[in-house]
Amino acid sequence: MKQIYFVIAFLIYQQSLAQSPDSLLLKDYQPVSIYSIPKTQIEQPMWPVIDIHSHPYAKSEKEINQWVNTMDQMGIDKTIVLTMTTGSAFDSLVQAYSKYPKRFELWCGIDFTGYNEKDWSQKAIAELERCHAIGAKGIGELGDKGQGLLYSKPTPAPGLHVHDPRLQPVLKRCGELGMPVNIHVAEPKWMYEPMNKHNDGLMNGFKWRIDTTQTSLDHQGLIKSLEQAVANNPQTTFIACHFANCGFDLSILSSLLDSYPNLYADISARFGETASIPRYMLQFYQKHQDRLLFGTDMGMDPEMYQLIFRILESKDEHFYSPYYANYHWPLHGFGLPKNVLKKLYYENAQKLLSL
Ligand SMILES: [Zn+2]
Repeated sequence: MKQIYFVIAFLIYQQSLAQSPDSLLLKDYQPVSIYSIPKTQIEQPMWPVIDIHSHPYAKSEKEINQWVNTMDQMGIDKTIVLTMTTGSAFDSLVQAYSKYPKRFELWCGIDFTGYNEKDWSQKAIAELERCHAIGAKGIGELGDKGQGLLYSKPTPAPGLHVHDPRLQPVLKRCGELGMPVNIHVAEPKWMYEPMNKHNDGLMNGFKWRIDTTQTSLDHQGLIKSLEQAVANNPQTTFIACHFANCGFDLSILSSLLDSYPNLYADISARFGETASIPRYMLQFYQKHQDRLLFGTDMGMDPEMYQLIFRILESKDEHFYSPYYANYHWPLHGFGLPKNVLKKLYYENAQKLLSL
């Protein structure tokens, strides 16, 4: 008799642990794929890799050494470190990474200090030339989500967009110096959409939502500003990072790439946003295989690199990753062909960096 009470008590306890969809918050939902289907573990990429989009994540000599170890393990030949900065901050980063000149390339920012003053363009060019002389081979990452180029350190430039006449002499000079310009315009479209139950990417979109009452350009306006700058400066190479944040409608980026030979796109940090539409992505990568650049923008953990290789190379379906738990959909591999991967991983970057 006693035993039966125990069993009943145990069943009630188990019931109390079951989570009802009525009370489980979407943010706490962490599904694990139940499918017994092929799972590809990619230790090393198919080709050596140039990572065109990273940041000074390693803060000490020890961390830089560690990063180089990880790069060796993961088949990363070279990492472009987008410092977004100029002046003494840039100089100390150059110094810090100087132990590995073949493994890291440091790109500087644009110094916007005094950008409302008359002779600003000339001052900015002088600082650009100084950074170039000590090793900056490109510019990045400039960033404008609608309020102006706020990413730059030490001085952000509210109200100044990339097509602004003040900036054109600087962008032109980048071209003359052979420095590509990596620029982030807008954000994924979910961040501009109403934050409600119909928002497809709400869980991540909400965190990065754009307050459109504070912006002078909307998503479309930002893409237009990029297009104008690219058109104004045909001798300057532009890299629209994160697929120009047009993952929701890649035909926009497609027509820009078709119109402007000086435009490239990097694929960094938009794996979750694109691994939801693998067949479309395969076509997109094939169509623009000469103009897409591999980038990460997601730290320096080995698991991060492996996840990206899995998405690009494998045909795995319906898998999750802690790196992309912020969207509530599973990931799918693109299964990119060998020749496309070769261009994406290093050939296009090599061409662009004139290595
Ligand atoms: Zn970045």
